[in-house]
Amino acid sequence: MYADCIVPLPLEGVFTYNIPTHLTHLVQVGCRVNVPFGQKKQYAALVTRLHDEKPVYDTKDILTVLEESVMLLPHQLKLWQWVAEYYMCTLGEVYKAAIPSGLKEKDGVVMYRPRTVDFVRLTKDFFDPIRLNALLASLKVARKQQHLLMRYIELTGVNAALTLQNATLVKEITKEEILKASGCTGSILKALCDRGVLEEYEVVVDRIPTSSIPSDLLLPSLSEAQQNAKQAIETEWEKKDVCLLHGVTASGKTEIYIHLINDALKSGKQVLFLLPEIVLTSQLTDRLKKVFGDRLGVYHSRYTDAERVEVYRKQVSDNPYDILIGVRSSVLLPFKNLGLVIVDEEHETSFKQAEPAPRYHARNVALMMAHMAKAKVVLGTATPSLETYNNALQGKYGYVSLTTRYGNVCLPEIEVVDIAELKRKKLMTGMFSPLLLKEMREALERKEQVILFQNRRGFAPMLECQVCGWVPQCPHCDVSLTHHKRSNRLVCHYCSYVQEIPQRCPQCEAEKLSCKGYGTERIEDELTMLFPEAKLMRMDLDTTRSRASYEGIVKGFQRGDADILIGTQMVVKGLDFRRVSVVGILNASTMLNQPDFRSYERAFQMMTQVAGRAGRSANASISRRGRVVLQVHDAKQSTVQQVVRGDYKAMFAEQIEERKLFNYPPLCRLVEVYMKHKDEAVLEHMAEELARTLRMVFGQRVLGPDMPAIARVQTMYIRKVCLKIELEASLTEVRRRLREIQTFLLGKAEYKAAQMYYDVD
Ligand SMILES: [Zn+2]
Ligand SMILES: [Zn+2]
Repeated sequence: MYADCIVPLPLEGVFTYNIPTHLTHLVQVGCRVNVPFGQKKQYAALVTRLHDEKPVYDTKDILTVLEESVMLLPHQLKLWQWVAEYYMCTLGEVYKAAIPSGLKEKDGVVMYRPRTVDFVRLTKDFFDPIRLNALLASLKVARKQQHLLMRYIELTGVNAALTLQNATLVKEITKEEILKASGCTGSILKALCDRGVLEEYEVVVDRIPTSSIPSDLLLPSLSEAQQNAKQAIETEWEKKDVCLLHGVTASGKTEIYIHLINDALKSGKQVLFLLPEIVLTSQLTDRLKKVFGDRLGVYHSRYTDAERVEVYRKQVSDNPYDILIGVRSSVLLPFKNLGLVIVDEEHETSFKQAEPAPRYHARNVALMMAHMAKAKVVLGTATPSLETYNNALQGKYGYVSLTTRYGNVCLPEIEVVDIAELKRKKLMTGMFSPLLLKEMREALERKEQVILFQNRRGFAPMLECQVCGWVPQCPHCDVSLTHHKRSNRLVCHYCSYVQEIPQRCPQCEAEKLSCKGYGTERIEDELTMLFPEAKLMRMDLDTTRSRASYEGIVKGFQRGDADILIGTQMVVKGLDFRRVSVVGILNASTMLNQPDFRSYERAFQMMTQVAGRAGRSANASISRRGRVVLQVHDAKQSTVQQVVRGDYKAMFAEQIEERKLFNYPPLCRLVEVYMKHKDEAVLEHMAEELARTLRMVFGQRVLGPDMPAIARVQTMYIRKVCLKIELEASLTEVRRRLREIQTFLLGKAEYKAAQMYYDVD
């Protein structure tokens, strides 16, 4: 017998291994096996098929079977195959992206300790009213111990349990909770434990009991608008599997999701709730946990590998999570009985993986996944992608809109400021217009919060010699280095190359190096001068490397630890801060001027979403409508005007017209063919040859070769050729021809060292 296996390598196809007789009873489709590869390598491979067709090459033996259970479900494999086919990569690459690295190691045995939480409880000896009261009296000399014990009794309902003589009525409490609630240190708790009054015990996180209250009773109540929207979605589902929920920012989509999830669970189905990484914070997870308890699992890229292995294993076990809330890669996870897929913020560009392969779009994979499982889909957003809205207009998707904010809060008022003119008149203070400063000052006086959006991290995007114009460049990439003042370094944002900041210009020796442009660090510095009293927080890639630091900022700002939050696009996404009344977009023009056919669409989405962070609460303490100050170089630009009017339809109409005119998605399929090489001359030659060969097959559908915006990254030069394919054409055929051409080109001795890959859609 033979087994076809996927190996976690970027190689085409599956590999056939011999099943030694002593393993035949253990090897099954979907299990993980340890296999030899090449001269001395070993990998954990996944079995996709068992058969008795002897291959033409000599087969090696499977070495061991890594576990008895199946790790790859049949329809999951089907979806992986679809991803590999559609996004033109290999099955091995999909495997690499889908499975946490702990499950790809050759020995396969992942030594992970289950996560535990420390709990505290009253000992049996003191579950006795007389002894307990005597103890409390005697503790008068140890005030803090007495206080902690009193808090414990209050919070856990010990008295009621004592009255009824039923110890199971005592509520469980974690060590952290009791320390926080009592304001005591660990040593006070230890003293009580030493006395034999309290004791600590560990609970495995997986097994933390949830409240036995049925989720129905915990559901948030829906407003009339929300109730109507939910019903409308269900009506659309009678005819179509996918429904777009187009609701303005803060319209309360989450409550609708929670009700839909509850319905799916009641019919015994699983739910996948897909979110951009940034939104997947404790904010939303907490809300869902409150209702669904431990039926909910979380899959986050900032989790440790062991934690992700834990989730993966649970999904293939007999007791999987009913709801999995996760980021992009969770579409590749196993689901046994999927009934509902929710993609929140469906327009988010972070659903698309750019590097490495598979260069997939998680929303589109989720749609295919749901289709294969016959599950229903909701795509939720305030600013639909052109693709999705177009599908709704064409009648492919159902469409439901929510036009009012939850609690009838008004949409924020957007004021546009022309900073080009103000700069000419020398009225700008750094990046701040007089209007923005005034709004900020007033908000701070009213004890409200402010969010500032600047889509560049670091201190300044570049350093420049004032004498000769020299700008430090990354030696490996075609980009200038960003000045990071906090770490006092120059950093490449493409390859992470780092160097010291030079004292003088290496070209002309002048000591006049000045900063050009503004990053979040520089904005933060300016604010300390402008608002010395205000407390600041900064949220960008540099301050949020770990999950803890990221959640710390979100929670801290929510609590009111800071008055002003400065951030990159991270602050844009789905965060819900109730006390924010003013939002400043420092320079919207940088978003509009990206060399990408989607730049206007994205700028509209980004501006609308940032603006949507303002004035989200019906709270009476926030007296007026939220304010957004939108600073831009050209106030009359049409996308800016569409944002101000909140006119999604006008944006759509204008952009779709452009896409028609220049033939771009969603009116065609776009396949970008990339080539990389260390030698620029060889690459140019290859790019020309590729374009020529492609034209012989695809004619006018071929564009290029072109230099991408960043034409060299990590010492590799890059060129691309675009293919625009009619929607009706067979993509399978296109892919077949492209692969033929690829094999032909890479087979030539001169291009041996080149790399080729594809980016679809
Ligand atoms: Zn110079
Ligand atoms: Zn670089």
